[in-house]
Amino acid sequence: MQITVLAGGVGGSRFVRGVREECARRLPDGGAEASLRQAQDSAVTVVVNTGDDLWLAGLRLMPDFDSLLYSLAGVNDTERGWGRAGETERVSAELREWGVGWPWFTLGDLDLGTHLARTAWLHEGATPSDVAHRLQRRWPLGVQLIPATDTEVDTHVLVADPDELGGEREMHFQEWWTRYRATLPAIAFRQRNIEQARPAPGVVEAIVGADLVLVAPSNPVVSIGTILDVPGIREALAETSAPVIGVSPIIGGKVVRGMADACLAAIGVETSAEAVGRHYGARAHGGLLDAWLVDEADAAALPALEGIGLTAASAPLWMRDPDTSAALAGAAIDLGRALARPAPHPEGAA
Ligand code: GDP
Ligand code: CA
Repeated sequence: MQITVLAGGVGGSRFVRGVREECARRLPDGGAEASLRQAQDSAVTVVVNTGDDLWLAGLRLMPDFDSLLYSLAGVNDTERGWGRAGETERVSAELREWGVGWPWFTLGDLDLGTHLARTAWLHEGATPSDVAHRLQRRWPLGVQLIPATDTEVDTHVLVADPDELGGEREMHFQEWWTRYRATLPAIAFRQRNIEQARPAPGVVEAIVGADLVLVAPSNPVVSIGTILDVPGIREALAETSAPVIGVSPIIGGKVVRGMADACLAAIGVETSAEAVGRHYGARAHGGLLDAWLVDEADAAALPALEGIGLTAASAPLWMRDPDTSAALAGAAIDLGRALARPAPHPEGAA
């Protein structure tokens, strides 16, 4: 079975690890080794958000891609929740002395190795998706990661200027998110050059050719929203014969981790599983999804979600560890299986 997942960084990583684990468990002799064998079948493709990407200190950073890479490779820092395990910050301290980069944005030394390699390859003429391919050769991830687009579509945020009454200022998403912790009310999000962007090689094929498409419980605005805004991706999702199943990043009216509520507020969407389901909309009526999986705490919203044409179901959505992530992935896969209609018999039923 070919599964294609749309994902951002933190929620995306936990979910994709769950999908990988659940697929391995479902193999006849499932287990740890099966998870590596999966690499050969390449049964899971992840279309990764590139809206958080940026140039800093002369280097190209792709934070969501690297979160997925490190997490799937098992070299991530599980305590901090981002970056590499066993990280040091000697180079960052030097850069601060030189006044290069952002003093509030620390780059770990191991992480800088990734950014240096990526930037060197880009300077040699590789595309971001070529680079993604090369980075994945180092570790057997068991899934394939593809950036949504090779075009630079870095997200900028329009905010009320903190220094000038009545003024407006545009800043890179990372400045708004990391420096200001999303506390400056956002007026709008803008993805640079997104009208000119095209899906990276393999993205449309992965969606149209999938047996199942999963929308990870990632930030609906700046992770999933950016992927969907790349011209051609929404069309591929509308076209695919695979069921498109979404998982809510909102549980009981709250974001589980992070500050996605600040992004939802900026686009006028309430922080609730029902509102995000409505925002994505039913594919039957021009929206994104066939089915929407919400937490058991949000089960009261199921009839309203069914009312707008979605198949709605509830399951425990909190990914606390590998088992709860795999169980969530399993619930999403089963929902997709139930919706997948076998092609009608050519002669038809008499
Ligand atoms: P980012 O790129 O690092 O911001 O991460 P994503 O866009 O992939 O995901 C951010 C979203 O993941 C947030 O809105 C969280 O609510 C959601 N999230 C994080 N952990 C969980 C979890 O355990 N369960 C669910 N359902 N959502 C989660
Ligand atoms: Ca992100």
